[in-house]
Amino acid sequence: MPMRPCWVEISTRALEENYRYLETLAPRDAELLAIVKADAYGHGLTICVSAFARSGAGWLGVTSVEEGVAARTVCPGARILVIGSVFPGQAAAVIEHRLTPVVWERWQFDELEAACRAAAAGPNSIPFHLELDTGMNRQGLALDDRSAGLESVLAHFSAASPLRLEGVMTHLYAADEADGAATGEQLARLDRALVRIGELGHWAEYLNVGNSAALLAGQGGTIVDVAASHGMKALLRPGLALYGLAPRFEPEEPAAVTAARGRLRPALTWRSRVVGVRRAAAGATVGYNGTFVVAEPMQLALVALGYADGLDRRLGNCFSLLVRGERAPIVGRISMDQTVLDVTEIAGVEPGAEVVVIGQQGEQAITAYDHADACGTIPWEVFTRISARVKRRAV
Ligand SMILES: *Cc1c(COP(=O)(O)O)cnc(C)c1O
Repeated sequence: MPMRPCWVEISTRALEENYRYLETLAPRDAELLAIVKADAYGHGLTICVSAFARSGAGWLGVTSVEEGVAARTVCPGARILVIGSVFPGQAAAVIEHRLTPVVWERWQFDELEAACRAAAAGPNSIPFHLELDTGMNRQGLALDDRSAGLESVLAHFSAASPLRLEGVMTHLYAADEADGAATGEQLARLDRALVRIGELGHWAEYLNVGNSAALLAGQGGTIVDVAASHGMKALLRPGLALYGLAPRFEPEEPAAVTAARGRLRPALTWRSRVVGVRRAAAGATVGYNGTFVVAEPMQLALVALGYADGLDRRLGNCFSLLVRGERAPIVGRISMDQTVLDVTEIAGVEPGAEVVVIGQQGEQAITAYDHADACGTIPWEVFTRISARVKRRAV
């Protein structure tokens, strides 16, 4: 049965080209880890994982064990890093599906070790990445001056442990700040922790740091230098850029980021269709609470799209969508499943006409940044709020 016409198209070619382009930005022997958390930034996990795998992605990053299991079904070969904690009762699935957990809490180690024992895993057979908190104060092992946390965690790993320290990970909290001061401090803290890890007799193959902003701004080189000085390989973790958008920088954008923005291609187009068109007389009001009052007779188009699809309700009366290649203002409040557009100035709009919510139509384009700016958020949130009932299609 044909569906209600509100859908997302994902250009797999754009995803593949973006991945390959980002690979050219990764310095020397640094590897990329494609972040596909939150249903691949709302683009659809299966579509995106397949596309990145075709481009040669060896690493994927997901939020949860359940996302990891879903990614494993699509991609038997890649290494899959679970960046958002393994929760009680999930460790057996980590081992069964060959996921790589990010670990920093003592109870996470205990969970994993118990599952390793239950699965009779051999010494050092199950890799994990240790996350260090170098300044974000969100997740990761807190680093105090005496490295007491590091000592007690690492003391735990004998040669006999089924777990193997494969990577040391940290997250940069201000990679989009052009002066790089916060990142410099975080990398210095990370470097000191790596010295300490070495002194304690441990080593990891990968240094796992850096998001899209770090990669596009060319901070990969510094990360590679830190890694190399400890005999490690850098693993960079872009997300947003893979989907074709470059993060914005404050206060001023580095030239490298502007150049990258020109090369990346947004992969997502969100479409709907006009259900019906009607004439409204002067004095009529539109939508809940009549927040829009018709001044002169106008032509209104009803669209199969509402806030339950992920269109932000704050866009009512202050945004426009594309119809027949032109911008049609949203009038009145956005309803759960419906939105009304003013198409008075656009000739020939009929039921079935295609509406573009995000993407290109004719000469015009609406980006996730346009949505984000209009409602005070960021494109990451715009993408991930496109709801599950909006079907994702590969094109
Ligand atoms: C989401 C995320 C990324 C990717 O961030 P982008 O800004 O989208 O590139 C990298 N690392 C971690 C830990 C993340 O949570």
